Parts: sequence; C-alpha cells; structure tokens
Amino acid sequence: MTATILDGRALAKTLREELRADVQTFTRAMGFSPTLAVVQVAGDPASERYARTIRRGCDDVGIAFQDQTLPAATSQAGLEKTLRSLSADPAVSGVLLHMPLPAGLDAAGAIAQIDPRKDVDGIHPYNAGLLAIGQPGMVPNTPAGGLELLLRNGVQLKGRRATVVGRSVVVGKPMAFLLLQEHATVTIAHSRTTDLAAVVREADIVVAATGKPGLITGAMVKPGAVVVDFGINVLDDGRVVGDVDFASVVEVAAAITPVPGGTGPVTNIMLLRNVLRAAHTWARQADSSPRDATRVL
Ligand code: NDP
Repeated sequence: MTATILDGRALAKTLREELRADVQTFTRAMGFSPTLAVVQVAGDPASERYARTIRRGCDDVGIAFQDQTLPAATSQAGLEKTLRSLSADPAVSGVLLHMPLPAGLDAAGAIAQIDPRKDVDGIHPYNAGLLAIGQPGMVPNTPAGGLELLLRNGVQLKGRRATVVGRSVVVGKPMAFLLLQEHATVTIAHSRTTDLAAVVREADIVVAATGKPGLITGAMVKPGAVVVDFGINVLDDGRVVGDVDFASVVEVAAAITPVPGGTGPVTNIMLLRNVLRAAHTWARQADSSPRDATRVL
C-alpha cells in the first residue's frame, strides 16, 4: 500500500480563502477589522521571523497586526502590564505572547494576564480547562490544524482507536482531547510508555508529537492506519523531517501528513481563525468583565 498524502499546503490555501471572506464580512458588518497584537521580547531572531510570518498571514486575510515588541530588559511586571492593557483594549481582538520567553521571565504568570477570550494560542489554563471538559473555547492552533486535516479529508474518527504519542500542553494533550470529542478511543503515549510499538500498532489513527525524528516507523504502524505527524525537526544537514519515518510508514499507512507540507502550513491559519473568533466573541461581550465571560457552569 502507498498512503494518500494529506496535503497541508492545499488545505491551508482553502482555509485562507474561506477566512479572507469571513474577515471581510466581519469588517463590513462591524466597521473595524479583527486585530491581532503580537507580544515579543526583543533580541530573539526566531521570534522576529515568526512575527514577520504572522504579519504576512494577517495582511493576506485582512486582519490588522499590532507589533508589541518590548525591550530586551523588560521586567515581569512590565510584561504583565502590557498583556493586561492589551486584554482590556477594545481595539485588540486577540493577544499572542511569543514563547519561549527569555530566561528570568515567568511564562505562567504572564499567560495568566491574558483575557481568555483573547487567548488566540489557546494556552491560558481557562481554555485548557474548557477543552478538557468539552466546552467551546480557544483551542491551541497546532492540534486544531491536525484535526482539521483529518476532518476535511473525511477520515472517520468516531469509534476508532487513536494513539497520540506526546503529552505536551500545546500539542499532544489538546490533540487527545480533540480526538476524544470526535468520539475516538484515545490512548496517550509518552517517553515513559513501555512498548511504544505495541501501543502505536493498536491504533487506527496515529499522532506523533515528540520532537524525535523518525521515532515512529513502518513496523510500528497497523496497515491502513492514518498518521498525523506534528514533528518539525531540523537535522544537522539542514533537512526538516517529522517524528515519523516517512519512507517506511508511507508503505503501510492509508494516509499520512508529510513533513514539510502537512500540519505546519495549517497551524498559522488556525491562529488567524482564532483571531476572527475572538473578535466575534469580544463584539458580543464587550460590556462584560473577564470574570463574567469565564463563568460557564
Ligand atoms: P515537547 O518537547 O513539549 O513534548 C514532547 C513529548 O514527546 C513529551 O510528552 C515527551 O514525553 C514525548 N516523547 C519524547 N520522546 C519520546 C519517546 N522516545 N517516546 C515517546 N514519547 C516521547 O514537544 P511539543 O509537543 O512542543 O512538540 C512536539 C513536536 O511538534 C516537535 O517536533 C515540535 O517542533 C513540533 N511542533 C509542530 C508544530 C506544527 O505546527 N506542526 C507546532 C508546535 C510544535 P514526556 O512528557 O514523558 O517527556
């Protein structure tokens, strides 16, 4: 068998066109554009590159972009004040805090200052809690994109067995919850899992989010399984590869996301989609406090 390729670039193009139309509708109806504020601390070239990519993505779909680059010597109090003020600013729909923060700054303390309704990365504990209890909220972009790839390609999830390898807060765990919401029977594996091959082999859907190049091989995958590879690993020779050994798995699986060109391109669109979603939420709840907005039960 040679697997069908789940093409993230093609899906990203479709999603971008849909989003552009939705943003236009919002802007016409409201008289202002959804706006994303990106907060980063100066001095990290990777952050600056990422911010440029996001800015281009925003321009492309009609979302306004606000650069909030703070000085390299920013204190925790300064960072938190910025996040609080953006959270309270009615002209800002979504707030993205670029990670990792420089040494000495506390990420959890900073994230706690973001209004959960504007948390377009889905990293606030409140949003993580909503996902865990199956309520609508802001979902982290990478797993949201992985699920979108599965759903838009008509992969059946209900009643099927899924193994998610990796349990990080931004990828593995939220992906497991998303699959559970789609009625898959989900197993989460991690670095202490014994006999990983056996746990992967029982799955109809295999998700890899480990940062370990080529960890999942063809011998571990059940014939006909669908494989989602979140891994982005840059090898010494400059090649970018996933957590899945593509050459062997493509011979066994029914469908597979390639790296590059699979989950990666979809991730950024999901971020922009969250900005529009946040703009809608904010427009509906502008006169309520974050405390009111976070009261769901
Ligand atoms: P983390 O390092 O935060 O988590 C890695 C997870 O993999 C941990 O839960 C760890 O287990 C588990 N793990 C590590 N080694 C093994 C092993 N040998 N067997 C089983 N499990 C193992 O990584 P992230 O979740 O942030 O990222 C995962 C990958 O996804 C990376 O390659 C990253 O670059 C990529 N990524 C891709 C994105 C995209 O848009 N496609 C966006 C974000 C990340 P334990 O908890 O026990 O330590």
